[in-house]
Amino acid sequence: MAAHFLTLSKARTLSLASVFRMSDAEAEKLFRDLRWDGGEPNCPACGSLNPYEYRRKTGALQFECRDCKKRYTLTSQTLFASHKASLRAYLACVAVAMNEVKGKSALALSRDLDMSYKAVWVLLHKIREAMSAEMKGREVGGEGSTVEIDGGYFGGYVKPANLRKDRKDRRLRENQSGKRKVVVVVRERGGETLPGVFRTEAQAMSFIKARVRKQTRLMADEATSWDALHARFEMKRINHQEAYSFDGACTNWAESFFSRMRRGEIGHNHHVAGPYLLRYAQEAAWREDARRVDNGSQVRRVASLALANAPSVDFCGYYQRHKAR
Ligand SMILES: [Zn+2]
Repeated sequence: MAAHFLTLSKARTLSLASVFRMSDAEAEKLFRDLRWDGGEPNCPACGSLNPYEYRRKTGALQFECRDCKKRYTLTSQTLFASHKASLRAYLACVAVAMNEVKGKSALALSRDLDMSYKAVWVLLHKIREAMSAEMKGREVGGEGSTVEIDGGYFGGYVKPANLRKDRKDRRLRENQSGKRKVVVVVRERGGETLPGVFRTEAQAMSFIKARVRKQTRLMADEATSWDALHARFEMKRINHQEAYSFDGACTNWAESFFSRMRRGEIGHNHHVAGPYLLRYAQEAAWREDARRVDNGSQVRRVASLALANAPSVDFCGYYQRHKAR
């Protein structure tokens, strides 16, 4: 049997030890290169390539635009803006998070790097937000390609009462919490993955129609929610009560996405349901698509995305804001 990709030396191109050995100057150089093509600072306010470079009393590198006089840093106007920790610590966070192929627990990462839990929790969410930037407007499929769709329910767990006589039938709607949501994934075989979050599978129809190109062959399970798609796509259905794969029909690509997401939920993240369910799903999708990419390239890709995207709307000053209330 061929060796698994992750056991090969070509899967390991960046070690945490090498991140920690980096000098401040090396970390700055890397962030410059990742943010600006060629490493030349570019004013985020006016686009001028003509800054004056200096250091603050803390030693932090800063730029002042000679044209519009705005001051900026290596991370201004990016997802990593207003960072308290060092650039090296940020890079280390990304590196550890990437090495964990099903997700990284914020508590474990805070212990690994001796950073506060809340700082790490917010940073991990920014990493998810960076990953999701690659999925904006993504479409999958097309003529000659096959896309699998499937749904998986998350959240709304109702704990059964201790005594049997007090227990309620949790299958009934009135005994559910109403917090249960479904992640619907569309995944092209040999291609990209795209998740969405809905109340029911049936509500995902317009998402599927918008993101799956015409003339795609669709694969789905026997759930009646997908029946409406027959009018638009050539479809094959697989009845999972009879077989997982039969006559060319299966949803194994979609299942492996859910496997990764479930393992992330059970083993690392625990509470994925709620307002950030889509972000956790996008993280699992990104990891699934990057599963054969070496770790050094993954870290560079995520850090570049974080530096190419505007500050987080959800998390800039998140804790400060919530404390104020
Ligand atoms: Zn400027």
